[in-house]
Amino acid sequence: MIDTASIETLKNTIDIVDVIGNYIELKKAGANYKACCPFHGEKTASFVVSPSKQIYHCFGCGVGGDSIKFVMELEKLTYPEAVEKLASMFNVSLRYSEGKGDYSEAKRVLEAMQTWYVKNLSHANNALSYLHERGINQNSIEAFGVGFVPSGNEVMNFLHSTLIPLGTAEEAGIIATGEDGRYARLVERITFPIYSPSGGLVGFGGRTISNHPAKYINSPQTKLFNKSRLLYGYHQAKEHIYASKKIIICEGYLDVVMLHQGGFKEAVATLGTALTSEHLPLLRKGDPKIVLAYDGDKAGIAAALKAAQMLSLAGFDGGVVLFPNGQDPADLISKGETELAAKLLREYKPLIEFVIEKLGSGYDLSNPKEKESAFGAVRSYLSGLSDILQESYIPFAASTLGVSTALFGKGKNAQKFMPTISKQTKYDIEQLSLLKTLLEYPRMIDDVLNIVHPAMFGIYEEYFQAIIIGDSEHQLVRQLSLNEHAKVMSEADLQKALRNFLIKYYEDKLKSITADTTISFGRKALLIRAIKTEIIPKLERGEMVDHESIGII
Ligand code: ZN
Repeated sequence: MIDTASIETLKNTIDIVDVIGNYIELKKAGANYKACCPFHGEKTASFVVSPSKQIYHCFGCGVGGDSIKFVMELEKLTYPEAVEKLASMFNVSLRYSEGKGDYSEAKRVLEAMQTWYVKNLSHANNALSYLHERGINQNSIEAFGVGFVPSGNEVMNFLHSTLIPLGTAEEAGIIATGEDGRYARLVERITFPIYSPSGGLVGFGGRTISNHPAKYINSPQTKLFNKSRLLYGYHQAKEHIYASKKIIICEGYLDVVMLHQGGFKEAVATLGTALTSEHLPLLRKGDPKIVLAYDGDKAGIAAALKAAQMLSLAGFDGGVVLFPNGQDPADLISKGETELAAKLLREYKPLIEFVIEKLGSGYDLSNPKEKESAFGAVRSYLSGLSDILQESYIPFAASTLGVSTALFGKGKNAQKFMPTISKQTKYDIEQLSLLKTLLEYPRMIDDVLNIVHPAMFGIYEEYFQAIIIGDSEHQLVRQLSLNEHAKVMSEADLQKALRNFLIKYYEDKLKSITADTTISFGRKALLIRAIKTEIIPKLERGEMVDHESIGII
């Protein structure tokens, strides 16, 4: 294992501009450097490298991180491999700690647990009959290493009898510490081992067989296990994904196992989370078409819409299959309807068509006012696509919404959902500066939360949410820290900016309330008076107002 101190030395020695400059040509742009992104095809440079922050970020596809991350992603290496590569590139010598560091120690625990879980399954009749009922055969159980974890006591006894240190078991995510001491995280569950793309065991998913309210639980986030970027089944599917240039993404572990059993060996699933931009680097490997295979229920459709929007805007090709009658892919295969599943998966709805249809179907298109909203939603989505794609899909969008194609004519000038930097107005910059200041001084967040509701940030709400939870890895947060137009303010200026922000917010609110026909006359009068005679004057006097006491968002 590479000594962490020597990784630190390496990080302090190398400069990200040299590292990335070794692979692609960087051009100086202000304090930063720019290039065409090596991770997604583009003609205008939206890939930015910051020497002061030692990070890179692509405003096009959202990838980003430090030098090591760049080498990992570009060369498809593991963390230690990337560290070794950089060390040899820059002549830095690494030290290795003897034997096992805690990293490999945790891995060893996971492997011991996996062996034990598999052994338990053979005499866990409830678990076996559940698996057989779902149609999973013995081959699949073995191929996917499906196991069983009995009671919490048995887990603790196993750890004691095998002399596994409890601290290491906790680090591996097997046990946790609660008020009454340590306890097993997975209890009375069927276990699905989760592997990294290179095939290392990193965690477990568990399905209850004792009607626990949480149907599925995953290992917690550990050093080894980052569930927001892993895909279940990826290491088994990898070869097939590369060969067929296709990847099927479904919602559950059982779907993956059953699809593989039915011969669809490119199937993977997210780990109980939605598909996010963090999955994109893994999805790009091998350049596959992406087929989203989701349940046809409300939740499935909503998840498919979000995923299809993100994938199409990031330049992916592929489509969506919604399984009918509340079935999931696993149901179809277990009923022997493999042919039907194959047909559904083949005849997917292309991503962009799916997004346009679903955006439109959220509105009552016979009502002109709603049609206007639907049109706005579809146009802002289309404006995020390339010019060629916009042009190709405008006729489809127009006929879906029942409007003329001419309305979409100004495709290029259409406003983007999230303004690109060059299109940001002074007001955008003020809001972003406010957010950047909170990013720099997190201790101010609590005070600000008392007077600003996250929804007040409108299109910037997601930035605010990411800052509140301290998610420094969030792509919007990276984007914000690299935005040179947004400035970090002093505390006094922040107060002033907050007041201006709120005044503008309430002035806009005043207009929208006046025009709103859904609010009763009495309530309207009340709100308007509160804003005009209390809130705005108070803010103008330099006082703050507590948004909860007003109840206007
Ligand atoms: Zn990119």
